[in-house]
Amino acid sequence: MPEELRGIGVSPGLAAGPVARMSPPPALPPARTVTDPEREAAVAVRALATAEARLRDRAAATTGAARDILDAQSMIAADPMLRDGVTARIKDGTDAPHALRDSFDEHRTTLEGLGGYLAERAADLDDIAHRAIAAALGLPMPGVPEPGHPFVLVADDLAPADTATLDPANVLALVTERGGPTSHTAILARSLGLPAVVGCAGALDVTDGTAVTVDGTTGMVHTGVSEDEVTLVRERAAEERARITGGSGPGRTSDGHPVDLMLNIGSAADLVGVDLSDVAGVGLFRTEFLFLDRHDAPGLDEQVAAYAEVFGFFEQGTIVVRTLDAGADKPLPFLGLSGEPNPALGVRGLRVSRDRPEILDTQLKAIALAASQTTADVWVMAPMVATRPEAEVFAARVRDHGLPTAGVMVEVPSAALHAGRLLEVVDFLSIGTNDLSQYTLAADRQTGALADLLDPWQPAMLELVGVCAAAGKAAAKPVGVCGEAAADPLLAPVLAGLGITKLSMSPRGLPAVRAALAGHTLADCERLAGRALQTGDAAGARAAVLAETS
Ligand code: PEP
Ligand code: MG
Repeated sequence: MPEELRGIGVSPGLAAGPVARMSPPPALPPARTVTDPEREAAVAVRALATAEARLRDRAAATTGAARDILDAQSMIAADPMLRDGVTARIKDGTDAPHALRDSFDEHRTTLEGLGGYLAERAADLDDIAHRAIAAALGLPMPGVPEPGHPFVLVADDLAPADTATLDPANVLALVTERGGPTSHTAILARSLGLPAVVGCAGALDVTDGTAVTVDGTTGMVHTGVSEDEVTLVRERAAEERARITGGSGPGRTSDGHPVDLMLNIGSAADLVGVDLSDVAGVGLFRTEFLFLDRHDAPGLDEQVAAYAEVFGFFEQGTIVVRTLDAGADKPLPFLGLSGEPNPALGVRGLRVSRDRPEILDTQLKAIALAASQTTADVWVMAPMVATRPEAEVFAARVRDHGLPTAGVMVEVPSAALHAGRLLEVVDFLSIGTNDLSQYTLAADRQTGALADLLDPWQPAMLELVGVCAAAGKAAAKPVGVCGEAAADPLLAPVLAGLGITKLSMSPRGLPAVRAALAGHTLADCERLAGRALQTGDAAGARAAVLAETS
């Protein structure tokens, strides 16, 4: 008898197939007496080396932020201090698995004591410890299963290390018990184009091999379905995919109201192989990648080359370059900011230029030089702007470098509330919903347990987006969204209805958003926006819009 589980649909699409659950972390067996400490130490050292090698292999197979995390994890596994701690414990009579566990625990306590970003990274140690302990016990590595056929991956929640090398050809959909719309699982699913349901209570009780259907829009998971039903859902999924990918042309509602569809990128590599014919350009070029893992800021020539490489992909269209967004979730060692007690509320984004104006000046100079070599329209915006004077000073500096179009991101509630005043001094706004929800709901964007608060469907968030869009309309200036919210096809008509003029997202998200906009008139969008704003909570807003669109 099919059973119904209900979660939050965070990445649209239908899927059907057998469940395979994430392998759980290894259970520690009771401690045993060590008779041959040397052999025991060799087991532990080999286990650490195995964990390191696996993490390194996974890092090599990925790019971007996932690669950085995996590289950092493999380096921790190779840390000689950690290894010495393990072997010392074994010499004192502790067996290899317990010596590993105790040493990782000690390392964790030290990191937590340091506070800030390092304390946040302490959770990563658990993942490395589980891998090393599994290797010492001769158990399979915890993580994504490999059943040998396509499957619906069910997990408690997914960490970057679990998913970095996940093969979308074999994974039909993601279902997690925990997590919310901004969790790592949701972001990953959208970037891979996989249907996903998060916050789905009871999912882990579904046994491996059980046939399920997953609806990443409604959040419904049906378990124990018949073969016929699996076939039916797969056929519908294929039709739906064909409908979405078959769309083309610029973003617009069914009655022709334009909403520019743009791309979020971190470097030129993100544009390779992407069909750029129907995009209005880049809505968010995150420039942090150039500054990562270094002890000094990159020089002018290196920056000019990197920006010119991106601009070279476009003969026309707009490219919005965001100046360095360092700090908090994007720590950069050379800035020496790690001592802050509250990094997310500290010197981050544009605030870095208070003490280090030369970093921004070099960057603006480099952007201007690269812009002079392209026919595309280069705009520049600053992250983490809180006040009009900050926006005014930034815009003046941008224009001083001969760059005519200056804007700011709206990531802080004060900026949203004063959107009209900001637009008196800048040419455009771009709403970073990832940070705006963090600061509006006072919920750390890196804390998975608070994902429900970070939901862009929170009516308070939608209201702030509406304030910005209305200010844009009054000033006849563009107001876009470039946070994760822009890639939600259910939300896209709501954002358009609120008056948002540009939606910027990863290339994968674009076809579904284009199709969603094309399915509604502007009046429909405005009505949906009104319905979402009337509700008292995020789930209600989502349900109200879903009820009117399906
Ligand atoms: C945002 O905050 O929504 C945003 C787009 O910037 P980032 O995710 O890079 O902080
Ligand atoms: Mg941000």
